[in-house]
Amino acid sequence: MKKSIALVFTLCTAALAGAQITDPKATEVWSPIPPKVTPGIFPGSPPSDAVILFDGKDLSQWRKCALGYGGKMEDVAAVIKKYGTVTKYEDAGWEVKDGALIVKPGAGPIETKLSFGDVQLHIEWLAPVDTGKTGQGYSNSGVFLMSNYEIQVLNSYENSTYPNGQAAAMYKQSIPLVNACRPPGEWQYYDIIFTAPRFAKDGTVLKPAAITAFHNGVLVQNHYELKGPCIYIGTPYYIPHPDKLPIILQDHGDKVRFRNIWAREL
Ligand code: MG
Repeated sequence: MKKSIALVFTLCTAALAGAQITDPKATEVWSPIPPKVTPGIFPGSPPSDAVILFDGKDLSQWRKCALGYGGKMEDVAAVIKKYGTVTKYEDAGWEVKDGALIVKPGAGPIETKLSFGDVQLHIEWLAPVDTGKTGQGYSNSGVFLMSNYEIQVLNSYENSTYPNGQAAAMYKQSIPLVNACRPPGEWQYYDIIFTAPRFAKDGTVLKPAAITAFHNGVLVQNHYELKGPCIYIGTPYYIPHPDKLPIILQDHGDKVRFRNIWAREL
């Protein structure tokens, strides 16, 4: 008897569920309507709603990075403490030549004047041919999302190093899924979707930062959840920081070139 009651109940539930999907209009959602965006003319060219961070002309969107980034968690903590205290910035001292932004070794890192949280970023880079250089010393730079989370820029074409430090690695955290590097002297690009970490008021991590990235159109990071800032020495962990922070480009002493940099706030 109990079994037959259960069967009737199941059939009734199934019938009700079926009734809910007989009208196709019931599952049409009419709002919100996505805003119109005109895509770029060529692959990689900025869509109409992008913020242009470098179009080959000048460094108007950039400044010298006053605080830098930490190599160890203690340094990261010290830098994060100083966010919001800088009142005067120096000009970005890097070179602009032939439509490219070129690292000026010794000038230090540069950062965007604008701050970003969740972001889509397109950035093109070129590792110059530098005979005799090897490993981490061959065209090293980096793109630091939110000033703390570095996707490595390095010549990783026939140049071996530790894989979690090669091109497209989240430095010392996540090895890229594949090596999609082009030879030095050729332009290549990253398309990045970055989600900022979320912190509770008491500083606990509600959601870690995450990155999806394509290197020359090939998926290299698939929603990787970061363990904290990308540091040189030690084990990363989260320290609460502002919701939006500048994007930093690293000066690692190599004349890496950048061009066509644009972002879309998400
Ligand atoms: Mg680097």
